Amino acid sequence: MSVSQQTSSTSNRITSDLAYQQCMNVDCGATYGVEEVLTSCPKCRDLLDVRYNWDKINVPEKLSDFEGMWTKRYQPLRFSGVWRFHEMLPFAPENKVITVGEGQTLLQQANSVARYVGIRPGQLYLQYEGMNPSGSFKDNGMCAAFTHAHMIGAKRAACASTGNTSASLAMYCAVTQLMKAVIFIGSGKISYGKLSQALEYGALTVQIAGDFDDAMARVKDVSKELGIYLVNSINPFRLEGQKTIMLRVLEALRWESPDWIVVPGGNLGNSSAFGKAFIELKQLGLIEKIPRLAVINAGGADTLDVLFNQRNLKWNGARPRMETACRYYDELDQSHSKADTIASAIEINRPVNLKKCLRALDFCDGVVRQVSDQEILDAKAQVGAGGIGCEPASAASVAGAKILRQQGVIGMDDRVVCILTGHQLKDPTATVAYHTTDQEKFNQVLGARGVSRASFANRAVAVPNDVEAIVKAIQLYS
Ligand SMILES: *Cc1c(COP(=O)(O)O)cnc(C)c1O
Ligand SMILES: [Zn+2]
Repeated sequence: MSVSQQTSSTSNRITSDLAYQQCMNVDCGATYGVEEVLTSCPKCRDLLDVRYNWDKINVPEKLSDFEGMWTKRYQPLRFSGVWRFHEMLPFAPENKVITVGEGQTLLQQANSVARYVGIRPGQLYLQYEGMNPSGSFKDNGMCAAFTHAHMIGAKRAACASTGNTSASLAMYCAVTQLMKAVIFIGSGKISYGKLSQALEYGALTVQIAGDFDDAMARVKDVSKELGIYLVNSINPFRLEGQKTIMLRVLEALRWESPDWIVVPGGNLGNSSAFGKAFIELKQLGLIEKIPRLAVINAGGADTLDVLFNQRNLKWNGARPRMETACRYYDELDQSHSKADTIASAIEINRPVNLKKCLRALDFCDGVVRQVSDQEILDAKAQVGAGGIGCEPASAASVAGAKILRQQGVIGMDDRVVCILTGHQLKDPTATVAYHTTDQEKFNQVLGARGVSRASFANRAVAVPNDVEAIVKAIQLYS
């Protein structure tokens, strides 16, 4: 039984003349109502987009009109950094919209990081999505998917996750008490910060004897069988919420597009959502200049980089040759290659939103690069030294910007926005190992991943339990 069948007899069945779902395969293009619960096109299995009848929607004439919404922040929906842009994602009626105050995030000028990257101070900005209620950008998308689940009357929601998606889902379920969260995790890989959230928020946590890909496969089977609403990355409604990250970046820059948006790439939901945001804003005549997009893979999970740069998989006028990706996945299977990086949130070899990301790269004249775990951790330490902690995956954006600057792709005077996707406290193990004085611990956590040095380590100073010695040490080191 599917969720839509479950609820079709109830009175809250929603149909909308403002929004619909559409298959992104140009040779299919089938459309479905927003009340349908689908994870792919039933006809051809391609990804679905949420689309709008813009002529029926009261979209502001200029983006600065959105600023007025913030003056009504006593209303939860206008306080939300996602829903105050409701007119850009109007798939749900306002009385069904759910918020826990997501998206109150800051675009921060970071001059010390600018110097590290090699950009003129004043021109580098960090969009700190770690400041979301569950500590990662995932809340932007989850409030939208959760709203859709609520709209169609779901009672249980599930996901497989490397950690942040499950933390976010568990939080929305716990705060609203509207649904039960069921999360699937593989053995071993999830960081303690993320696991602790899911457990404390009361999610039913199913640990599969297998890795993330296994957890993903099983959650799909089980959700289908039990009619549980699936909020994993393939859910098109999540991307709608994530579009608003770009709206907030533009707002902070007084509605002037930056030259570059740099974002880590895992399942490629963020990059896809950013591209969709700019496509729609351009179509509506709300922006002139399109920023260029840089998507950064970890070296141990570099599918997009390989396919885009080495095997020339491009959007190709809406007909990307996806066989190239299938062939590559077969090769990965044959050589038993598994994704492996300290940046666990992007430790993914089969990005589900690949095709949508190709569209975004095409529209935003994008580039793709990969960075090593060494580069990620050094960049992370520099971000932290600037006072904004992030988790390893997030720092891939800064490490990627540095490489693009060295290659001359990003110019010294370009205005660059790096997305910091998650909070530092999500994964303290990596941070403590980087700064440790214990070589054995360093080797155990990081050495195995090819990290040989901690160039920006801030090591604790060991002293005897003695005032004189402590005073001496402080005078010596400060
Ligand atoms: C999910 C996640 C990513 C990857 O984002 P995609 O949209 O899947 O590419 C990156 N960083 C963090 C912290 C995440 O939680
Ligand atoms: Zn289709």
